[in-house]
Amino acid sequence: MIVFDLQCRLHGHRFEGWFGSSADFEAQQARGLVACPHCGTSEVEKALMAPNVARKGNQDGPTPGKTLPVARSASLPPEAQQALAMLAQVQAEALKHSRWVGGDFAEQSRAIHYGERADEPIHGQATPEEARSLLDEGIAVMPLLVPVAPPDELN
Ligand SMILES: [Zn+2]
Repeated sequence: MIVFDLQCRLHGHRFEGWFGSSADFEAQQARGLVACPHCGTSEVEKALMAPNVARKGNQDGPTPGKTLPVARSASLPPEAQQALAMLAQVQAEALKHSRWVGGDFAEQSRAIHYGERADEPIHGQATPEEARSLLDEGIAVMPLLVPVAPPDELN
């Protein structure tokens, strides 16, 4: 197996793709079988090696290639499906008044915790390492049970 950093031509979304070989990738790409997981386009090419991208601003978004835990819902018992749907609803309700801060989550949580800015509910993205160090500092964070799409991807 070989892993490529790929990029869609339409939006520049980056993601990883696993292929049997380089030729395998080219064959699948030529047949339009390689699609961007963010927008679905098959206008996909190998990404150039990433320069160090600034972490601020509009670069926030799901880490490309990062996987989310998923289950095929049809294979879950109905009670579990119901419970998960309810959780999703409760979470959505709880986050209604919370502000999406994307990848700035750790930074903003610290700012609030240390009184550098007004307290408000926020949610966003953190790596497991960031979450752990926030907890180490006594800043209460918890994982969301249902993945939340960044607002700018919901259109
Ligand atoms: Zn895309």
